[in-house]
Amino acid sequence: MPWRTLTAALTVALTLSCGPRSTGNALAPNREIAQWCSFQGVRLGVEPGVVAGGTSCDRLAGILTEYLQAYESRWEDVAALRTWTVRIVTDRPTQGAASGNFFAGQTFWDSQTIDLYQGSLSVLPHEVHHVALGPPSADHEGWCPFGDWESREGILEEHAYLGCPATGN
Ligand SMILES: [Zn+2]
Repeated sequence: MPWRTLTAALTVALTLSCGPRSTGNALAPNREIAQWCSFQGVRLGVEPGVVAGGTSCDRLAGILTEYLQAYESRWEDVAALRTWTVRIVTDRPTQGAASGNFFAGQTFWDSQTIDLYQGSLSVLPHEVHHVALGPPSADHEGWCPFGDWESREGILEEHAYLGCPATGN
């Protein structure tokens, strides 16, 4: 399955791709989960509204597998991710965001949970990169090569968000 095609269909404009730098907010909120499944050994939960929208846990697992395999083919195999939970959520996460802002995805360290907005599945590699690098990665320092890779692969264009010069492609 060509994940570049999937990306084009599923990516929405990115405002913020991850949570606040403050470490005081690292617990994931409770959420009702309609379906559980897994991808690549990672637990996956899907909110009721996402399922009601016509998709299934297994279908989302297939898409996330493509993104995780792409990530691990260039960066490291993130073994720690297998103890984490990824949740696909109906609404854009706003906990800890400035008024009027939202996150496409959010990494909750203390809960070992990643929430991804259903329209922003392409943010998975970004959040996985945080898990690989640990909590100090919250400031995205030194992430320009990662931004170059994401852009080159057609996964996500976030040079501006990362504070990096855009590369020609
Ligand atoms: Zn981030």
